[in-house]
Amino acid sequence: MVSSSNATTSPMASSSNAESPMQLTQGPQFQGRPSKRMHVMAKPIGAVCNIDCNYCYYLSKQDLLEYKKGCSPEMDEAMLEQYIKNYIQAQNTPEIIFSWQGGEPTMLGLNYFKKIVELQAKYQPPGVKISNDLQTNGTLLDDKWCEFLAKHNFLVGLSIDGPQMLHDAYRTNRAGRGTHKQVMKLSNYYINIK
Ligand code: SF4
Repeated sequence: MVSSSNATTSPMASSSNAESPMQLTQGPQFQGRPSKRMHVMAKPIGAVCNIDCNYCYYLSKQDLLEYKKGCSPEMDEAMLEQYIKNYIQAQNTPEIIFSWQGGEPTMLGLNYFKKIVELQAKYQPPGVKISNDLQTNGTLLDDKWCEFLAKHNFLVGLSIDGPQMLHDAYRTNRAGRGTHKQVMKLSNYYINIK
């Protein structure tokens, strides 16, 4: 029995205690358990990028880490699996969203992202949707990438600084040339296959 005085202080109080001055309600539930959601932005290649935007504040982060001592910035397969498993198991929600950023995450290659969706399928709980988003400078993507991203419903953020004149002023490759043409070619293709 829960007395009315307990009902004002205990989170276990029943909602049937109508005369209680403070009604405590059960939090959101999913599949009969308390709902748990979170969002993490993963950077599986750290600060490494294939281009060299003038304003980038992130490339210099490589100097803060252990890269120069020979450590790979890449999240290796064992760590990737652990991350995906833990991220899924820490949540209880109808949709789990993975976000992938860099540096430039597509430098990891298409096979790396195929492994990501394989591992997600391995740990996907019944009745739960798994979604992915990817932020990219777009310079490394090609037809195969686009087909893969479309097939697996990735939400793709393409970094574009507006018209060519503005974009190419800042978003340059290692040789100092603008990347607008490469990115726009890709965005047209991706829009068409959607
Ligand atoms: S694409 Fe992003 S990470 Fe790469 S140099 Fe430009 S701003 Fe930095």
